[in-house]
Amino acid sequence: MRVLLTGAAGFLGSHLAERLLKEGCEVIGVDNLSTGQRRNLDRLLAHPGFHFLQADVTRPLQVEGPLDWILHFASPASPPRYLKLPIPTLLVNAEGTRHLLDLALRKGARFFLASTSEVYGDPLVHPQPETYWGNVNPVGPRSIYDEGKRYAEALTMAYHRAHGLSVRIVRIFNTYGTFMDPEDGRVVSNFIIQALRGAPLTVYGDGSQTRSFCYVDDLIEGIRRLMEVDYPYPVNLGNPEEYRVLDLAHLVKELTGSPSSIVFRPLPEDDPKQRRPDITLARRLLSWEPRVPVREGLERTIAYFREVVAH
Ligand code: NAD
Ligand code: UDP
Repeated sequence: MRVLLTGAAGFLGSHLAERLLKEGCEVIGVDNLSTGQRRNLDRLLAHPGFHFLQADVTRPLQVEGPLDWILHFASPASPPRYLKLPIPTLLVNAEGTRHLLDLALRKGARFFLASTSEVYGDPLVHPQPETYWGNVNPVGPRSIYDEGKRYAEALTMAYHRAHGLSVRIVRIFNTYGTFMDPEDGRVVSNFIIQALRGAPLTVYGDGSQTRSFCYVDDLIEGIRRLMEVDYPYPVNLGNPEEYRVLDLAHLVKELTGSPSSIVFRPLPEDDPKQRRPDITLARRLLSWEPRVPVREGLERTIAYFREVVAH
């Protein structure tokens, strides 16, 4: 198997690349290093089957030789990062997706899109099944990401319908774990780093908004299984264990044994009030469900961040 994976220097892309390399695949990792980490690449370059191509996928990509799969993970993913990169975020999901779909057509490759639970926006249906069309503010600050991913899904389905391209789409719900970027501003990494440094944990709003947190190994297993079944429509992958953000702050304090205080900061505009995946489809289609409970996943992630903070 020869696989092209965009966003290989990122959190999820590097995990999936590592998994595929261990299975014996040849992986061509593409990344422009806009939000990715060099240390993730170093880890991958230790495998002889890994090749790195530094490129911006919003421009057409020339790749020699055959490709079996094209896995599109490139996109800023944390709200602070995509809010700082509004146009590149729209373009990587629009133009980037188009160029990679064209490449998949030319190579006869299967195309995978890393989509997001953000396509549901601030959901009025809870938990969210794939059949829910969402509640997105099309001109709000988060629209660059939400609408970018919605367009990427629409384009992927159009290539499937118009050209018979083999496609897979996953809607990823908040995922955390080792090799997350400690600086990218997501809630799990922020709280753990703050707790380990003895700094106040920053809860946005009153902390009553909810998220459901999936450990990265579970997500990667779900993606791996989806690549093997014939299903072109979006599939939710996430852990239905739902937490209020304030309760997550208390849990991180408990698990780190940190004396940090909790401080409240303004809630970002259009921050979704609740989010939990309905994973009925993934259970049926993939015989998949998360195996790592949030407490255990957080313990593993805390152990990883202790090392990061120490260096
Ligand atoms: P990440 O920021 O760690 O990784 C994204 C990678 O894409 C980075 O290495 C970045 O440098 C690269 N990139 C960005 N724009 C690029 C471009 N134009 N050309 C080439 N490379 C580019 O984020 P992540 O958490 O690993 O997310 C990966 C994918 O999964 C994203 O598409 C994201 O939208 C999706 N996703 C992630 C989560 C999550 O909880 N982590 C949830 C939903 C969806
Ligand atoms: N959040 C928080 N403190 C932080 C970072 C985030 O309270 O330091 C909140 C954020 O407002 C949101 C939730 O935690 O309600 C999840 O934020 P994250 O950026 O991780 O992901 P999102 O699901 O919003 O994309």
